[in-house]
Amino acid sequence: MATANIAEVFSGIQGEGMLVGERQVFVRFSGCNLRCRYCDSRWTWDQHEDCRVERIPGSSSFVFVRNPLDATRLLSIVSDLRGEENLHHSICFTGGEPLLQGDFLAAFIPMAAHLFPMTYLETNGTLPDKLSQVIDHIDIVSMDIKIPSTCGVKPDMEAHRRFLLAADRKHVFVKVAVNAQTPAHEVAEVAALTASVDRAIPLVIQPATVEDAADRIAPAALMRLQAAAKEKLETVRAIPQTHKMLGAL
Ligand code: SF4
Repeated sequence: MATANIAEVFSGIQGEGMLVGERQVFVRFSGCNLRCRYCDSRWTWDQHEDCRVERIPGSSSFVFVRNPLDATRLLSIVSDLRGEENLHHSICFTGGEPLLQGDFLAAFIPMAAHLFPMTYLETNGTLPDKLSQVIDHIDIVSMDIKIPSTCGVKPDMEAHRRFLLAADRKHVFVKVAVNAQTPAHEVAEVAALTASVDRAIPLVIQPATVEDAADRIAPAALMRLQAAAKEKLETVRAIPQTHKMLGAL
């Protein structure tokens, strides 16, 4: 049976992107193929001996389950977190980069899908061949494009284009984190790439959560980035990381 290295599982409120505010069960996979400068999930880069599972939503009180987890064990955990009430919009697969464990996802998602109204994938959008393993079972894709000014990595636009083409038959949106140093052309390139696949794909411009105020993008600069992207795309929203404001997971 396929197994996975999982960093954490919890029930919480989505804090980013087009589904901000929706309740989800989150399954956060360990491992990432990128090394973004401002990564807020660095602790997921390495494999963990144990997966932490939040006992009571919002409590930050965890029980620990030995990795790797097989699909049956993970199914039992997400089923418990779902509970009997119909509170969850969807189950969210996140990371790290969840598609690095695509074989497991391809086996697990069909087992878990009936427990939730929808399935949701958060990804850095660099592994289009892996996406093809799971896209039949995913309802919504949140695809990040990491840009040099915030992440220190040069995006592989051809990989992102192929990824978006594969994801566009489902609900998909693109997310790009920006800061005070982000030049307009970096967001313009993201908007152009997205529009080259489908002008109707929404773009979320996410002001990076930064410790140094000098890195925080000013509202006027954010609006200029949004206006430029709007020339190419039908929907462009500026949405900060609300879970960071709440102090939530
Ligand atoms: S893709 Fe996400 S998890 Fe991976 S290094 Fe970048 S920010 Fe961190």
